[in-house]
Amino acid sequence: MTSDRPVRVRFAPSPTGRLHIGGARTALFNWAFARRHGGRFLLRVEDTDTERNTDESLHSILNSLRWLGLDWDEGPEVGGEFGPYFQSQRKSLYQQAIDRLLAEGKLYRCFATPEELQELRERQMAAKEDLRYDRRFRDLDPGEAERRAAAGEPFVLRFAVPDGEEIVIPDLIRGEVRFRSEEVEDWVAVRANGMPTYNFVCVVDDAAMEISHVLRGEEHLINTPKQVLLFRALGMEEPLFGHVPLILGADGKKLSKRTGDTALEDYRSKGYPPEALFNFLCLLGFSIDDKTDVFGPEELVSAFDLKRVNKAGAVFDLDKLHWLCGDYIRRTEAAELASRCLPWLQQAGLVEGEPAAELQSWLVDLAAAMRERLQSYQELPEKAAFLFQDGVEPDSKAAKALAGEEARRLVEGMRQKLETLEPFPPENFAAVAKAFAEEHEVGMGKVMKPTRAALTGSLGGPDLGQVLKLLGREQALKRLRQAAART
Ligand code: GLU
Repeated sequence: MTSDRPVRVRFAPSPTGRLHIGGARTALFNWAFARRHGGRFLLRVEDTDTERNTDESLHSILNSLRWLGLDWDEGPEVGGEFGPYFQSQRKSLYQQAIDRLLAEGKLYRCFATPEELQELRERQMAAKEDLRYDRRFRDLDPGEAERRAAAGEPFVLRFAVPDGEEIVIPDLIRGEVRFRSEEVEDWVAVRANGMPTYNFVCVVDDAAMEISHVLRGEEHLINTPKQVLLFRALGMEEPLFGHVPLILGADGKKLSKRTGDTALEDYRSKGYPPEALFNFLCLLGFSIDDKTDVFGPEELVSAFDLKRVNKAGAVFDLDKLHWLCGDYIRRTEAAELASRCLPWLQQAGLVEGEPAAELQSWLVDLAAAMRERLQSYQELPEKAAFLFQDGVEPDSKAAKALAGEEARRLVEGMRQKLETLEPFPPENFAAVAKAFAEEHEVGMGKVMKPTRAALTGSLGGPDLGQVLKLLGREQALKRLRQAAART
């Protein structure tokens, strides 16, 4: 369901930390919804918590969004007609709304001290009643309230929740959710220090920015009735809401740092392909159809439908993410993969600085050889280290494969064979090895195992023809010679 207003959605992060998986998924769904409906995707920075905000967090959030491939039509760095897009720069707008609602009696001053409120809570707890503010200052004479405020007595502003209102939220994901206004307490809209609270500024901004649909995490559902009542108090049209399900760890509990990396940046720095993360985040509660797991932005945008977002919590399945990563890497062009892996090769000290043309093309061959075996760019240095060094030390399995007279004789025979071959490596190494095995009247395994062990130092790894190409004639023959000479 869409309203008849132009589609304008927002992602509203607080820059108090890095972008988490849940936030990234919320941003992605908003982006997809805007793109699907030809609407606008806004980024609004909820930076009212001056003690916890940092520039570093802001940049990290923006970078993570860009890394995922999300662009925004209005917001930081791009501007827009509904700015400023930082809440810290919108204080005068909030003040106007506060003054108006206070004058209209829709906000009122509450002078209850923290101790008095604590006492109230304890009393309600002892009586097993719902914990809620008892409206003790709601009917205070406004003149009296003003006098006490002028005398310097601290107060908060509370929202006067109207009695007897039905709040029906036609949630676009969960279906109709109903609240009665009696269930909503007179919540604090402005703190004693004059700072309006999240629920207040969020609504003032959503109204001013003409947000048509609010799509956000399920944890905000408890805020929605408060916000709906505030839209009504302001006389503004309320947006449509959709609450996306929680993300659960493998243990079925809400995803937390304990269950794995929760910041998107951690996946980036570990060399996960952004396309895989994009795809994976979509699958956290959404599916295009009943069979398609692998899809990208275009397919998402043309199929995005809130009706296909689940109500139930979405389980964060790390194996699935790794599988997707491997799948994307396998389908990446070798040249592209080489350039994506380069920072990790540099970090590991295997490549110094910008590679010259010859090394560059060797790295492309390397990427082509290793493509099938990677689930992240970060894995390449470790998995390919044997190709960068002079000589190789066999691991225990390889050493076993090289032990014995026959293995050494076959490795030496293979060396002699390869030495005579032109071009190097031969076009079809498997055929060469087969002919060699027949000539020596042994099975292929007897030849390949020690040859692989000699060339790579292990029993796994890429196709030996590719290994020979990457090592080059001199290094390959040297390794075979060394292995044959081992005692
Ligand atoms: N700043 C809020 C958050 O990060 C935004 C919630 C909303 O979308 O309304 O949770």
